[in-house]
Amino acid sequence: MAKVETKVESFTLDHTAVKAPYVRLITEEQGPNGDTIANFDLRLVQPNEEAIPTAGLHTIEHLLAGLLRDRLDGIIDCSPFGCRTGFHLITWGNPGNDKVALALKDSLRAIRDDIEWEDVQGTTAESCGNYRDHSLFSAKEWCKTILDEQISTEPYERKVI
Ligand SMILES: [Zn+2]
Repeated sequence: MAKVETKVESFTLDHTAVKAPYVRLITEEQGPNGDTIANFDLRLVQPNEEAIPTAGLHTIEHLLAGLLRDRLDGIIDCSPFGCRTGFHLITWGNPGNDKVALALKDSLRAIRDDIEWEDVQGTTAESCGNYRDHSLFSAKEWCKTILDEQISTEPYERKVI
């Protein structure tokens, strides 16, 4: 018997065949009480070519936690991939790729253009597990790079919104 039995969809994606940045629906699942949740792949940089350094990624994470919720209802969680190329977004219901992509694009634009250090939540020892590892400068530079490309809603072809 295999030591890990569950095949995880994310690991069956051919990471060499996709073109970042994009929004992709990973799964839509129904809970025992009938609620639907959706899990999205928010891929910000090209797998195996780039990776956002931890300080910038960490600051983007803290900012997306608020900015995405300001723009999209039903967000359960948005957490970075260990490979540092993007985020999982989990939502109640399925808002659809286009709505998610627009909310993501506008949030990244806000980070690039509007956000100041005072706007970053959770940057103290009390409110973050590694508060020294933040960089708004890096977050802004990466958002600039990501937004220079168009965020696609079809990872395998360039359907631009
Ligand atoms: Zn933190």
